[in-house]
Amino acid sequence: MTIALRRLYEIVEASPLAKKIWVVDSYAAGHQTVQRMARELGSVTNLEIATIEGLARSRALPALAAGGLTYASRGETYWIVFSLMRSVATASWSGYVPPALVAPGVADRFHRALTELREAGVSSEDIAIEAFEQRAKGEYIRGLYSAYEQSLAQHRIVDFAGLSRLAAPARTDAATLFLLDGGVRLSEVGRAMLERLAGDRGALRIEPEPDFLAPESDFPIDAVDWFRALGPLAESKEALRRAAASGVPWDDCELLLSDYAGYVPALYGLCRRFDIPATFAGGLPIGYSELGKAALGYLDWLASGYRADALAGAMKLGGVRPPEDAEFRRSDAIRLLESSGIGWGRERYVLLTSNPYERDTDRVAAEWLDRLIRRWLLPVPAKASDWSAADVADGLAAFLADCRPPAAAADASVVAAVAELREQLGRWAADRIGAADALAVVRRRLTGCAVEADSSPQPGKLHVASIEQGGLSGRRFSIALGMSEEHWSASVRQDPVLLDDERARLSDALETSGSRALREREARGRRLGSIRGRVVFGYSSLRLAEDAESSPAYELLQLYRAARGEPEADFETLDAAIGEPSGWVGAGGFAADLEDGMTRALQTPDRMLRDGAAEVFRLFPSLAAGAAAVAARKEPIVGPYDGLVPSLAQAAAEGDGADGASPIRSFSASKLETYAKCPLLFFYQEVLGVRPKEIVEYDRTRWLDAMQRGQLLHDIFCEYMSETAKQGGHDRGRLEGICERKLLEAAARVPPPSPHIYAKECDAVRKDVAVFWRMESRRESKPRWFELELHKDEGSFALELADGFRLSLRGYVDRIDEVGDHRYKIIDYKTGQPKYYDEGAFYAGGTQIQHALYALAVEQWLRRTGADPEARVTEAAYAFPTERGLGEEVSRPQEGRRDDTVALLRRTLEAIRGGLFPPTDKPELCRRCDYAAVCGSHAEWKKHARAFPENRDRLAPLLEVNGSV
Ligand code: SF4
Repeated sequence: MTIALRRLYEIVEASPLAKKIWVVDSYAAGHQTVQRMARELGSVTNLEIATIEGLARSRALPALAAGGLTYASRGETYWIVFSLMRSVATASWSGYVPPALVAPGVADRFHRALTELREAGVSSEDIAIEAFEQRAKGEYIRGLYSAYEQSLAQHRIVDFAGLSRLAAPARTDAATLFLLDGGVRLSEVGRAMLERLAGDRGALRIEPEPDFLAPESDFPIDAVDWFRALGPLAESKEALRRAAASGVPWDDCELLLSDYAGYVPALYGLCRRFDIPATFAGGLPIGYSELGKAALGYLDWLASGYRADALAGAMKLGGVRPPEDAEFRRSDAIRLLESSGIGWGRERYVLLTSNPYERDTDRVAAEWLDRLIRRWLLPVPAKASDWSAADVADGLAAFLADCRPPAAAADASVVAAVAELREQLGRWAADRIGAADALAVVRRRLTGCAVEADSSPQPGKLHVASIEQGGLSGRRFSIALGMSEEHWSASVRQDPVLLDDERARLSDALETSGSRALREREARGRRLGSIRGRVVFGYSSLRLAEDAESSPAYELLQLYRAARGEPEADFETLDAAIGEPSGWVGAGGFAADLEDGMTRALQTPDRMLRDGAAEVFRLFPSLAAGAAAVAARKEPIVGPYDGLVPSLAQAAAEGDGADGASPIRSFSASKLETYAKCPLLFFYQEVLGVRPKEIVEYDRTRWLDAMQRGQLLHDIFCEYMSETAKQGGHDRGRLEGICERKLLEAAARVPPPSPHIYAKECDAVRKDVAVFWRMESRRESKPRWFELELHKDEGSFALELADGFRLSLRGYVDRIDEVGDHRYKIIDYKTGQPKYYDEGAFYAGGTQIQHALYALAVEQWLRRTGADPEARVTEAAYAFPTERGLGEEVSRPQEGRRDDTVALLRRTLEAIRGGLFPPTDKPELCRRCDYAAVCGSHAEWKKHARAFPENRDRLAPLLEVNGSV
């Protein structure tokens, strides 16, 4: 029972039949007080709870209606100030804050200053320029204030100050007893209004509860305990540990935070982790709800210059899903987006629909994405300087409409907050303020919203509140956190617009920074004074960011002195009494989780760490298996942990995909070459079907990536050679014409980042084409087929090797030339450097098999299709028709190599079917490999394994593949 509560109860009980209005800071505070009174003293009748704003709104209604006026909240009047500050360039007083410097935060400061002046009863005419340190500032504030008053009058709007003045007593007010909570800070206009409403009887002020350290306080000083911790996270965990250990039900516990915003993320995360039901009086930042994260993700996407990865992230957070009957999943669409090559840039989203897609489902998914993105961008102008905050909010609303329906209350409050924001911005913020400011405004408003706010404690739940909001619940166990000097002491920083001296000169009703800090400190002390039952105080003795010590608040020392009867005690005595700080795993006693328990079990009495590996592995068999795998990989003998998996590979190679393995339905030259380079890489890709995430990073300094550029050159060469074959002769003009047309087509498909980059890369392509021209003008062979597709659509080409040995093959041959009667040469264009294609290395350990494989395949294709039943492919060549490749050509004569090729292919398939997938013996390859994060140092550990005698038999087929020259 608190002193203030008893006083209120006695007054209410003394006039049971009269109507009483209890004027409080917030409805939540009023309801908690009344509930506590009913619980501890008995129920009361005819008591209505009201706030000053609520009273003003209800008592000014008739005047608003009669005058055709509209009330604008503080959130709405902000827009009037913002808009005036940005549009006053022509006013004589406007020089102090030029419109170009008016950011949303700057406008916020001036809006607060004008609001304070209005509510202190100071009008623009009352403002003396001499009251300000600088004349220009005084002129600016007076001019802005006057413009604001005129704007209100012109638009028939009233703000809170205007509303308070319009408020008139209701018919029943004459017989009403107005009771004012003495802790409420009334502005000048609020005080005047209350006096008017209460009439001659005046409002009866109920003295607030005394400060918890005041001699007259009933604060339970004998039931106090304290602790300190290494940072707010450890402090929050220790608080929950103590609450759980207390045996008090969660709904009889309250946590009071001196720094709500600083502590609530840690407490929220811990409550979720330990499954503790909790209410948060001030709610949680919007980013704690799924839709809130998605909303911020949408803003990040716009702010990033439309980065495709930012959009993919926002879509995932928002649960944007394809229609029920779609034949693709959201992950397919996001993969398309990430691998589209868009990178960033609004205009580059055209790539979604202009990219070629082999599969119909990909095209449909891309079209679906395109429709969505257009909808999300429709309200946002293409030109950044044309954006308004309302445009951004409209785009955000369109995005959220396509996200998953709100599943939790927090998500619903995000949707409601955005709807309210749109409504407000639509009315007040249509000015074109440019992308940066428009985004800043919307982000500021959104991050200012709280979700899951439960201002009143709920049954069954721990209640978490700021000290200012809490302390009224009457719960039996309270813990106050953040009792360090740093968190407890209120800020005494001056307001940057109205300085303390200026305030003092302008009006006595304007609060200075010193008096504000004192009032806030007193209010906190009185809130703590309302606590009864057991109380624990905690503080962080370590400032983690600065790695510096932090002192407890002076009030904690005073509390200690009073509780222990040691008036001379100093901070050192207090520290010694509190004992060792609690870390993440606590200092002893109650263990909050397995981590606490295990870490404590691993500590010796003198706080050294025991070797607990055996115990950890006993408790966690999967960790033990992982440790065994690492140990085995470090051994020279190859085994199951090194990719030797005969059963899995057999099943996969036979096409049944057993044990989750993806069936290898057909081979290509590149797959076989990958196997020879690193069998483990082949295993990841082809057997397990694990693909690296394809995220194309957009580089502002590059137009086409290596693959796009290679494709462009192939297209130019192919079209030119096809035309040449038809028309029977070379023509440089034709080649250059094709090159220019293909460049334009590529630019339409992939928008260049700038004209300069485009021109530079076009020149480089033209130079490559010139190299190609030089090579072709010297060539004597007769070009016959180009971009020949060996397989048909989804099928494969059955390559007959020997004795029923057959290989299902898929592949494209760049070009086939006729070099003599029934004799052919295969040409494969390469856009890289020739140095990797040594003339002496025919198969290069199986890593260059394409030329020989295609030689066999093309020969069979020519014969089988009847193109030339006597065809023989006698040569294959890698051509390098680019500046980088110096126009070189590396030849691989095929005559007499057929048996070698068949033997190599047979051994490669034997190794694959035998499940031999050890890591490469060239660890340097790992540096550029997408799977390096998975393999770690595996290749390094097994670098010499192939030479180890015990491994020779096991790896025999692979050793033969790699031994082929
Ligand atoms: S990281 Fe090295 S060992 Fe692992 S798959 Fe890639 S190349 Fe092979």
